[in-house]
Amino acid sequence: MPRVAVFFEVEPWEESYLAGRLRDIDLRFFRTPLHPSQLAAVAEAEILSIFIRSPITSEVLERMPRLRLIATRSTGYDHIDLETCRKKGVVVTNVPRYGENTVAEHTFGLILALSRNIHKAYVRTTRGNFSLEGLRGFDLKGKTLGVIGTGSIGLHVIRIARGFGMEVLAYDIRPQPLLAEVLGFRYVSLQELLSESDIVTLHVPLTPATYHLIDWSRLQQMKRGAILINTSRGGVVDTDALLRALDEGILSGAGLDVLEGEELIEEERALLHMPEAEEKLKAVVRAHLLLRRENVVITPHIAFNSQEALQRILDTTVENIQAFLAGTPRNVVTSIA
Ligand code: NAD
Repeated sequence: MPRVAVFFEVEPWEESYLAGRLRDIDLRFFRTPLHPSQLAAVAEAEILSIFIRSPITSEVLERMPRLRLIATRSTGYDHIDLETCRKKGVVVTNVPRYGENTVAEHTFGLILALSRNIHKAYVRTTRGNFSLEGLRGFDLKGKTLGVIGTGSIGLHVIRIARGFGMEVLAYDIRPQPLLAEVLGFRYVSLQELLSESDIVTLHVPLTPATYHLIDWSRLQQMKRGAILINTSRGGVVDTDALLRALDEGILSGAGLDVLEGEELIEEERALLHMPEAEEKLKAVVRAHLLLRRENVVITPHIAFNSQEALQRILDTTVENIQAFLAGTPRNVVTSIA
């Protein structure tokens, strides 16, 4: 009898992808998050794969007595009762990272839109206007990029920036001097980074320490006419201060994939299954009057959303399941979130 694996919160393309790779397993798919009313139907499953909108409580674990593996297709695992899993001998695996180049590439999408006025040109040409007026941009080569947060994404941004011939300054509470030498960038104080950079890009997590890290006093330290890019979390920037900096010409533009007020979204992929996300984003943008500005480019939290990044989540999940079945589990979550 083949093993039974149940997948929740899957899209149709994911079903066929998984079916092609997990051939010896009896796979059952559900588009929705796991709901207690479905437990009777999945009681015989040995493998459960979910995303973050399926809470795995002690009740769920009680009613899935054959369960041996939970392969969450997310980085976070706070939706799973790890303590009960441990007691019942259920292994939990996750996808530790999947989108570093993906978010870094989108960061440069925002930078290039602003440096070459691509967003303005697009709107004009769709209206039949091919005038060059007001569309002169600036080169990235030779400019200074300030990278705040040099983790997985920040470092990737730095690699791309070096490819463009940019100078790079960085700030992080945990600097990596060896990497700075290898990649050719320099760690400096936050103040120096802000005052020397033509473009500042944010790649820190939202924590109490980074909440409104970019506030009015920090914006005033920035080079006049600089550009601010935020693909990290909205709450890292004080939006009222950002609007004032744009009004007063301290900033000549901003590229925002995330907006203050949407920080409840902790896991990007949740956006793909969140019917209320669109309304929430609209309300946030309206509240901040950001859309009326030609020098602000907003994307609706899509920096993570490439086919390849989503594919990497599935690939890692398939590998996690196969490794578990081979007796060599990988990406096992051991601590309580
Ligand atoms: P990471 O953990 O690899 O790197 C974060 C870096 O920030 C670390 O080097 C850390 O030392 C540094 N840091 C933490 N607190 C700091 C502080 N107070 N001051 C200065 N530096 C500080 O994370 P990552 O994978 O590079 O992701 C960065 C952030 O990007 C995530 O936390 C997430 O909020 C955001 N993100 C956004 C999207 C999107 O779709 N827009 C997708 C993925 C991640």
